[in-house]
Amino acid sequence: MHTPTLLIMATILMGIVTAVMVAMWYFYRRIPGLLAWALSYLSGFLLCAVVLTRGQISEAWFVIDGQVLSFLMAYLNLVGARAYIGRPAISHARAAGMGAALVVLALHFTIVQPNPGIRFAVVSAVTGLLFILGARVLATGNVHRFPARYIFALASGAHGLFLLIRPLLFNPGKAGLFDPSYALTISQIIVLESIVAMTLLAFGSLMLANEHSTTELRRLAERDSLTSVFNSRTFLTLLDKAMSRARRKKLPLAVLLLDLDHFKSINDTWGHKAGDDALRHFVGIANGCMRNEDVIGRMGGEEFAIFLSDTDLTEAHGVAERMRALVAAHPATTAEGTIPLTVSIGVTLALAGEATDALLHRADVAMYQAKRKGRDRIETILSDADLRTSTSIAA
Ligand code: GH3
Ligand code: MG
Ligand code: MG
Repeated sequence: MHTPTLLIMATILMGIVTAVMVAMWYFYRRIPGLLAWALSYLSGFLLCAVVLTRGQISEAWFVIDGQVLSFLMAYLNLVGARAYIGRPAISHARAAGMGAALVVLALHFTIVQPNPGIRFAVVSAVTGLLFILGARVLATGNVHRFPARYIFALASGAHGLFLLIRPLLFNPGKAGLFDPSYALTISQIIVLESIVAMTLLAFGSLMLANEHSTTELRRLAERDSLTSVFNSRTFLTLLDKAMSRARRKKLPLAVLLLDLDHFKSINDTWGHKAGDDALRHFVGIANGCMRNEDVIGRMGGEEFAIFLSDTDLTEAHGVAERMRALVAAHPATTAEGTIPLTVSIGVTLALAGEATDALLHRADVAMYQAKRKGRDRIETILSDADLRTSTSIAA
């Protein structure tokens, strides 16, 4: 294989990928991480260009440019991954310090104590670790829900691992670096691996951008925009599934229907915006009382429903009481003032073979009973017989 041809190919490829990533960033700026990834590929492109000009610039400049660009490529990949996942940015000053230390070390092993093997090992270790860190950051969440994250993490991690072990390929100390034909083959393998890795990473970032848009669309479709809990449609679908599961496994399933008390007067007193803050405050408290598998949905206005799988009446009542007491004890702090809140809660359990409508209706009647009995309290209706009694009293 002809090395300059390979390098020219790599440069062209990096140029194309950089252009695609810059365009992606330009048109999809709301997707985090794309700018850092575009800059990472730009560094890769410049690195290829620098390698191509080797021999025409001084060795010291070649080493400085090479180290800085290799470091930037790996570091910006990590920055992109953190931004995409929503992790706080790393201090760029600390990163600049690391990059500078790398350059100083590399210059040391070029001028003071010339040893290209160690220089190569140092830059490989630092950049390899950065690519592996990038992989670690991205590999979060459910793999079936976010496959692109794992594909990207695999590409970034594998590339990082290769960078870590590649100095060993040169087998320093034996013929290694000093056998020109062996070194040439290894160099070509390294360039080839970079081409493959960069192509995979580029596809990975495009898939991530796509995954981000899909996730955002799904969130818009499934969740309530004010409080971020499920909207009533999604809640009902999930409740339906949970009821089938409870029936099949013969496990209890509890439903809570919660309605904030006198919310209209809260809006009238403090304004609609403060009312919105109070709703979010309430959801925060409710979420704090729930297990991971419990599901809350906004059924409309200031009314929420929660289902608790594998939960009997005593436990459900305990959860409801905890929520009621916490809401009453913790007023919402808003820009307009501190708003005391109370909530009325209806509790019921799913009956064998019933539909979601019937279950929610019973919880609703229980909740209205709590309103009638003075609010800031919990009422339970378990059977259709209780339901009939309660409805006739209401009528
Ligand atoms: P009750 O104790 O009987 O439940 O009285 P209430 O005032 O809470 O009940 P009502 O159904 O009369 O009023 C509900 C109020 O909730 C009316 C509406 O303005 C307010 N509301 C509904 N959705 C929102 C919202 O998204 N934001 C705000 N700020 N208020 C909302
Ligand atoms: Mg209300
Ligand atoms: Mg209401």
